[in-house]
Amino acid sequence: GASGRTADVTCRMLVLGAGPGGYTAAFRSADLGMDTVLVERYASLGGVCLNVGCIPSKALLHASEVIESAAHAGDFGVTFGAPQIEIDKLRAYKEKVVGQLTKGLAGMAKQRKVRTVQGTGQFISPNELEVTADDGKTTLIAFEQCIIAAGSQAVKLPGFPWDDPRIMDSTDALNLADIPGSLLVVGGGIIGLEMATVYSALGSKVTVVEFADQLMPGADADLVKPLTARLKTAGIAFYTGVKASNPQAGADGIRVQFEPAAEGGKAPESAVFDRVLVAVGRSPNGGKIGADKAGVTVTDRGFIPVDRQMRTNAPHIFAIGDLVGQPMLAHKATHEGKLAAEVAFGEKREWVARVIPSVAYTNPEIAWVGVTETEAKAKGLKIGVGKFPWAASGRAIGIGRTEGFTKLIFDEATHRVIGGGIVGVHAGELISEIGLAIEMGAEVHDIGATIHPHPTLGESVGMAAEVYDGTITDLY
Ligand code: FAD
Repeated sequence: GASGRTADVTCRMLVLGAGPGGYTAAFRSADLGMDTVLVERYASLGGVCLNVGCIPSKALLHASEVIESAAHAGDFGVTFGAPQIEIDKLRAYKEKVVGQLTKGLAGMAKQRKVRTVQGTGQFISPNELEVTADDGKTTLIAFEQCIIAAGSQAVKLPGFPWDDPRIMDSTDALNLADIPGSLLVVGGGIIGLEMATVYSALGSKVTVVEFADQLMPGADADLVKPLTARLKTAGIAFYTGVKASNPQAGADGIRVQFEPAAEGGKAPESAVFDRVLVAVGRSPNGGKIGADKAGVTVTDRGFIPVDRQMRTNAPHIFAIGDLVGQPMLAHKATHEGKLAAEVAFGEKREWVARVIPSVAYTNPEIAWVGVTETEAKAKGLKIGVGKFPWAASGRAIGIGRTEGFTKLIFDEATHRVIGGGIVGVHAGELISEIGLAIEMGAEVHDIGATIHPHPTLGESVGMAAEVYDGTITDLY
């Protein structure tokens, strides 16, 4: 190789990082017939998503959903006793779910003859990566092409005593060491609110503070309201436009001060919490892999710029997933992974995703895709909004979840669907229809004219297409 050293392993394609982006890229590369090596520092494949992200959080949210549903079953005359939580069993359940998936991945890698090398990779030249295992043993890999998929990690807010186990990031929170009496969640985004939902259902007294003036920044405010109402009923306290500061570890807990985010704003009194979860975003790992040695440009913040084919400034090196930018979502990473492998193989493709759905798996769920109303207003787009309240849905009434609604956002002139949002149970399962409509250039009438099964929550998407400005209309 360029370093003058002899490689221990040579390959056509090297994939760095085995998260959803990396394993997808490696599998696609191998399926296309490229000789592929996958480097991952942890023993288990799957990255953040499978090990400490999407999957374990959803396993725990399932438990919280059951607890919450049981608590409301009294409405139809069925009462259960207070939940008895065996935290070791719950943790084991979560680990079983994760283990099943990561084992599956290892099997799929083997089946495709993807060679995996465990250890931390650092580029030492444009064609070489040095991998250092936990025991210090190094492996030098020479590659022709490379896909960087090293992902991201939780932002550790400065000023927090991170050595104290009572200060947690999302990985610590998913470890479920105990059920704290009180928990402060700093950051009211998707991850913060999902974990608030879990711990509240398990019995913690949860407080959430968010710097922005709305929970779930990025989603339209109307979608967030039914969630806030439900979480309030569950006893969660929320403060928006508030900054947590000056945490002091003491014998009785962590004392946290609160300041208004903007001048003239309000903030609660300082308080003591058994644990504090910091969920204020994730930072890309682009700056930690020796990218400069490979001649790959990395921004100050650690992102790796790529073109529409996921190519970095070095033509034989691609980058995908969380480390190329927002949104930091698994389904974006997997799509980019496939694309990068195909382009590296020589196919003429580019990134053409118009929309990437976002889902908060809270209770109720919030899902949105494409242009939001807030964005449309900011850009001065002329839009129409079809909104269907679930209070008019037979199915939602039957399951006692009428707080939801479905809205479609369309171009006023062409009637093409350009966005949509759903709040309510299973919103994440329902949003795909709107994504498909946008990708296929559907007009709102196409959705209205499509027969949806009755009585379903999915029917609400069809109904939203027929309700414009609060009245049922035929748009044509
Ligand atoms: P990652 O999953 O971060 O994987 C990168 C891999 O590279 C890691 O395994 C890492 O160990 C490895 N690596 C890094 N540097 C090196 C190195 N130098 N040498 C060797 N290996 C290295 N997204 C969703 O779409 N839906 C969800 O429901 C969802 N829930 C989430 C919940 C939580 C609590 C968190 C934290 C995230 C969640 N996400 C969710 C985001 C999702 O996990 C990420 O978008 C996704 O994992 C990104 O995939 P990736 O392949 O880019 O990187």
